[in-house]
Amino acid sequence: MSDARLGKKWNEIKPRTSLQEHGFSFEDIKKWRTNERDAGRPYGLRDFYQAHDLCFECGSRGVQMIGLDESDIPLWEICDKCGGAGKPFYHGPDLPDTRK
Ligand SMILES: [Zn+2]
Repeated sequence: MSDARLGKKWNEIKPRTSLQEHGFSFEDIKKWRTNERDAGRPYGLRDFYQAHDLCFECGSRGVQMIGLDESDIPLWEICDKCGGAGKPFYHGPDLPDTRK
């Protein structure tokens, strides 16, 4: 009895986190993007994640969807960019952390 399937269902996979657990709501994203757009700065979704030190690869969920199972249920794995933290790894000594 071998199960070669990769990935887990959403309610099975841990650790996972969320935008909300990092202190942001979707409303915050909208407001931020509107402000940045009006100020003439980059206002993409990726820009939001970068500006707030959140992992864009997994949408700060700590897990990434890697595919679907045979019933089209999404399957997830721990994000290999942030290791499940929802925040990027330390960028290195060349980039001092000027954000809080
Ligand atoms: Zn991630």
